[in-house]
Amino acid sequence: MRLLSSHLARRIAAETGTPAYVYSQNALETQADAALAFPNAFGLTVRFAMKALPNAAILRIFARKGLHFDASSGHEAWRAIRAGIAPQKISLSTQEFPSDFAALWRAGITINACSLAQLDTLGRTFPGANVGVRLNPGRGSGGTGKTNVGGPDASFGIWHEYIGEILETARRHGLKIIRIHTHIGSGSDPLVWLEASRLSLALTQHFPDVTILNLGGGYKVARVASEKGTDLQTIGMPIKAAFEKLAVETGRKLHLEIEPGTFLVANCGVLLARIQDVTDTGPAGRRFLKLDTGMTELLRPSLYGAQHPISVLPANATERTTDYVVVGHCCESGDLVSCAPGEPETLAPRQLAEVQAGDLCLIGGAGAYCSAMSSKNYNSFPEAPEVLVGADDTPHLIRRRQTLEQIVQNEILPEGY
Ligand SMILES: *Cc1c(COP(=O)(O)O)cnc(C)c1O
Repeated sequence: MRLLSSHLARRIAAETGTPAYVYSQNALETQADAALAFPNAFGLTVRFAMKALPNAAILRIFARKGLHFDASSGHEAWRAIRAGIAPQKISLSTQEFPSDFAALWRAGITINACSLAQLDTLGRTFPGANVGVRLNPGRGSGGTGKTNVGGPDASFGIWHEYIGEILETARRHGLKIIRIHTHIGSGSDPLVWLEASRLSLALTQHFPDVTILNLGGGYKVARVASEKGTDLQTIGMPIKAAFEKLAVETGRKLHLEIEPGTFLVANCGVLLARIQDVTDTGPAGRRFLKLDTGMTELLRPSLYGAQHPISVLPANATERTTDYVVVGHCCESGDLVSCAPGEPETLAPRQLAEVQAGDLCLIGGAGAYCSAMSSKNYNSFPEAPEVLVGADDTPHLIRRRQTLEQIVQNEILPEGY
């Protein structure tokens, strides 16, 4: 699926400037439909893990589709509320328990305690409440070591062997544990996800009041041809069968929650950039494309060695191609866009149509963890704008480009300096 026609790309570049993120409403809605079709036995809630792409316009598209939301920090939960999301649709699972959690709770959000200390704090403040608990089921899997959040090396959730402590803490405060939550990693191996999900389902036997099992996100998406995405129907069917088996054996009909981030948005966005310069290091050296973007908008290659499709729109198209090393605009050799898979520092030239400075460049797979996870303002580059292409192909600006004034607005010069 080509997300953006060259005509529209040129129009957005002219109207908004580059770099700019461009998202497709049609693509977002298609992904929401696919997630809502996740196999389930006794009901399903799909939560968008909003840390992947938290712009208010995106949240509202998903809310209208009937999605709920997963917030990873108190700030994110407030941001969703500010965007007009009903607090009852927001669930918080966080490493850093917000100091104002009580205000969020009173506003109506639900909370999964992600450590024994969080559970104790919740219990002391709201004795007798209904709460969720995030467990580390003992297995983890992620596309990279940086995105694996389960197993003995991960700090996320309460270790599955501490069920006695969970029950004791709950008893002390009269808490009712109604939801078990697990999320083992981003880009997880489907078989490990399945195994972790089965372990999580088995753990519900210790919690008689649990009515909801949240199996997290982490479903793989193929951004480039060499990658393989996870098919939700394939991965969901065995879990559906396991829910049904549990119901036959115990009479318990659990409601399923999933909370994808990547799956819902990764391939719904492109980063539109302009080629600033074309240079080389001699006949035996490299040819470089220098973009007006880089780790300031797209940190994933530098952080994980992530692969993103790159295409160019030469104003004067010829048949000729060249192997280009594509680099970002920061004064940092690590600002490399065309890196080798999983190797942020290894140059991996891409064969592209021959281009000149001034031509446009499109970097695909830029919907998830790009705008949301940039090294913002490094080298004092302003935060890039975001554009939403509506269902009728009309581009809407949903975030303006930052100004220099905004970059420095919180600086304070003490008197005499
Ligand atoms: C990040 C996160 C997700 C989403 O992960 P993806 O890999 O983007 O699907 C889901 N749940 C929790 C708790 C998360 O932290």
